[in-house]
Amino acid sequence: MAIFNKEEYMRDLEALVNIDSGSHDIDGLNKVADFICAKYESIGLTPVRTQQGESGRPYVEVFTHPEAEEVDVLFLGHLDTVFDKGTVAERPFTLSEDGKVAYGPGVGDMKAGDLMAFHLTRVLREECPDLKICVCHNSDEEIGSEDSEHAMQAVAAKSRYGFVLEPGRVGGHFVYQRKGVADIVISCKGIASHAGNAPKDGASAILAMADIIQKMHALTDFETGLTVNAGVVKGGSASNVVAAECEAVFDVRYTSFAQLAEFEAKLDAICAAPAVDRVSVSWKKAGQMPPMEPNENTETLMNLLRAEAEKLDIHPDFLSVGGASDGSLLSAMGCAVMDGCGPESDKYHSVDEFLLTDSIEQRFHLLLGAIKGLA
Ligand SMILES: [Zn+2]
Repeated sequence: MAIFNKEEYMRDLEALVNIDSGSHDIDGLNKVADFICAKYESIGLTPVRTQQGESGRPYVEVFTHPEAEEVDVLFLGHLDTVFDKGTVAERPFTLSEDGKVAYGPGVGDMKAGDLMAFHLTRVLREECPDLKICVCHNSDEEIGSEDSEHAMQAVAAKSRYGFVLEPGRVGGHFVYQRKGVADIVISCKGIASHAGNAPKDGASAILAMADIIQKMHALTDFETGLTVNAGVVKGGSASNVVAAECEAVFDVRYTSFAQLAEFEAKLDAICAAPAVDRVSVSWKKAGQMPPMEPNENTETLMNLLRAEAEKLDIHPDFLSVGGASDGSLLSAMGCAVMDGCGPESDKYHSVDEFLLTDSIEQRFHLLLGAIKGLA
């Protein structure tokens, strides 16, 4: 078995966790990027570092074969956390007495995964020198990856397999499928009128929206995985005025683009037939994340991971989940993606975030073995 330097890993993990790197902390993000880049430089690789967005967040790509047009294996990890500057001072990296549990801001989500990418790359380069690897680190994942999206997708477009090193679920489970998300804004325009003196002159946008919300929620189908939620509703001006306007924002989760198209046709029909006369209805998409859809290579990947897990006598499940991640962006480019590849962690985005340290080495060997099967 390849040697995994756990001592070095734990030392680096402590150092990385102890750098505040919230998505808006450019100084901290740069320090984390410096640290990561230095690791790759120490093994003779040349990270390509750019600045993104107005605030200049660091974005890092490391290629083992910079001249190659294709990438076999793409490792993805974000350097940002959801925690504000000053969090480290309050609760720095700590280990439980038996050393089995690590705590600290971003320890699982996902500094442990970021480091895992480095350790895998270092060993894979030696054991599979022809394997073309790229490591991508963005710094805006926790705020939607808007600035890094295009760069990541450009690499994904030429990559065969993508490994997203977001935390693995406790129990060692991976995520192979994620739903897509569409934010749908529906606007109703009615006619204002005095609710006491001239109620018949008005056309209530709120009443029309109430009907639309019922119809939209009725499109939820847990069997096929389509879910609709009216999360925000705004409308009207005063209780004695028939509402001239109402707007609602819906979160729609879907499993495939085909399902989304079907949903949009129903949405068109709902908006074309408001239940209140003289109310007009329109809808627009305010945002969208593609689904992470498995392709034929995903099956290969799962089989390799299963076979390798068998050898280690562990039994991870492969989960289909509703939440989106950057894995969805890779998948949309045709790359076979496995997500949740990092060490086992839970309670992320909270003060209770923890990482199970025994899973670090296990995850390393599991991924290493499976990836060698792709070489
Ligand atoms: Zn994350």
